[in-house]
Amino acid sequence: MRNSRGSLIRPYPLPGSASRPVVTPLSPSVVYASDTPDALDDQYEGRVQGFTYSREGHPNAQVVGAHVDALEGAQGGVVIGSGMAAVGAVLMGLLKTGDHVVGGNQLYGRSLRMMKEDLPRLGIGVTFADPGDVAAIRAAMRPETKMILVEVVSNPTLRVADIAGLAALAKETGALLVVDNTFTTPRAFRPFDHGADIVIHSITKLLSGHSDVMLGYVAARDPALAQRLMVFSVTMGLTASPFDCWLAERGLLTFPLRFDRAQATAAQLADALAGLPGVRRVLYPMRTDHPDHALATALLGDQGCNMVSFELDGDRAAANAFTRAAEGLSFAPTLGDVGTTLSHPASSSHRALTVQDRAALGISEGFFRVSVGLEDPDALIGVMTRAVAEATGKG
Ligand SMILES: *Cc1c(COP(=O)(O)O)cnc(C)c1O
Repeated sequence: MRNSRGSLIRPYPLPGSASRPVVTPLSPSVVYASDTPDALDDQYEGRVQGFTYSREGHPNAQVVGAHVDALEGAQGGVVIGSGMAAVGAVLMGLLKTGDHVVGGNQLYGRSLRMMKEDLPRLGIGVTFADPGDVAAIRAAMRPETKMILVEVVSNPTLRVADIAGLAALAKETGALLVVDNTFTTPRAFRPFDHGADIVIHSITKLLSGHSDVMLGYVAARDPALAQRLMVFSVTMGLTASPFDCWLAERGLLTFPLRFDRAQATAAQLADALAGLPGVRRVLYPMRTDHPDHALATALLGDQGCNMVSFELDGDRAAANAFTRAAEGLSFAPTLGDVGTTLSHPASSSHRALTVQDRAALGISEGFFRVSVGLEDPDALIGVMTRAVAEATGKG
């Protein structure tokens, strides 16, 4: 290989080695040199594997893509700069003026925003409906509806979408069923096994798991759609950075262990919170008192999820007191970190809504969403129990 001889400007090439690294090397090179124009032809025409320019692909993205593909039972998934880049590639790369899309009414806030603010500007119609109610989604559809976009478990009230019903509806109407699987993860739910056409991830969250990488993923069941998503992401420059992919691969190696541990702790925490006098209600899909418990059990089996929401018996003052008293837990708007994080939808993700609209979703000033991490379960439950008592005066 010519480049193993080095170049005039970089005269000292990597040393040859009879052994090979165990860890995937980080490959920041933006550009890849070929031997001849014929060799480049071979590469472009798929006779040999290689890279040319990292916007179009690089080894670290390929490794992460293969890893998430295997988890999701997908092929040719695109690793992309962020979860929102994945949502954008699906909505803007596949829809055109005159098309219509039906979105779940409790989608991730930025996805809702893209659909409300950006798609109409491009002449793409948007309607939102409850993804747990197939009749409501059906009623929202039009002859020009090309896509249904939902999340399996909604933020922050953890309602569950009727994926089987939606897959049947999509099939019947010829619309694509797109599932954002960020909350549930392929450990608990694999959308392609349930009739989804496209799967989206924010790898930023549980898959990479350490809050030090922003990355997304999108895969389509139909190879022609997968190709369009890949070309759109390359053309728009939504490409993932090698370093982020390198970190994400490291996170993915422990993803199943982290997920299992976090969701087991989440189940314990949900039960503990439900027994506290200062807590009005707990939302956890694997508890029998959750409104979608049967659906959650059918879809997620015994895997559950690491997210628990609950309502303090108190107002904004109690919420302030709670985050102050919850020592060692970050009050931060994310999920899926190794550490437990608390989020308060009324002041963050749902702050743009009126008090009445929030109330309709069941989000009060005392409402918190907890992304359970890897702390010792007893220590975590201890901190939360003390913080609830301090914030509400009920213990
Ligand atoms: C965070 C998130 C996104 C966006 O992902 P980023 O990596 O932050 O761009 C999309 N969907 C869901 C469900 C999310 O939680």
